[in-house]
Amino acid sequence: MFISCTAQELESQNKKDMKEYNVVKTEEEWRESLTTEEYRILREKGTEYPFTGEYNDHFEKGTYNCAACGYELFDSSHKFKSHCGWPSFDNELGGDKVLRVVDNSLGMERIEILCGNCGGHLGHIFKDGPTDTGLRYCVNSISIKFTPDESK
Ligand code: FE
Repeated sequence: MFISCTAQELESQNKKDMKEYNVVKTEEEWRESLTTEEYRILREKGTEYPFTGEYNDHFEKGTYNCAACGYELFDSSHKFKSHCGWPSFDNELGGDKVLRVVDNSLGMERIEILCGNCGGHLGHIFKDGPTDTGLRYCVNSISIKFTPDESK
């Protein structure tokens, strides 16, 4: 499957309307359902300090779900050691779990990645991955929650 992760590629595709998320809450409701740090990262697009996150060096078998809404985003088989300080994945579960939008903040052009179910900020995606997909989904540990799978 073709995964776009440059601004040019994104503009050539139809982007999902941001109002069409399945999970829609007011900012007040999000503040109530998330911790202060989760809110800062998931709703205010913050970033956790590198090498501090719970899943940076975590390689058990299972699934990583959105910390805000529970949507299944990544499988442990997608995770690889990136040494960049944040959990890194080379793919996402299914086809359209993760949304991409152009992010021109901090004087850089990057592609932000969001939960496709609630719009929560996950991190950014880069085309410098070492595996066959060539992709590195660079994700905040705080944005995801791991569920172990004993059968894997
Ligand atoms: Fe979500």
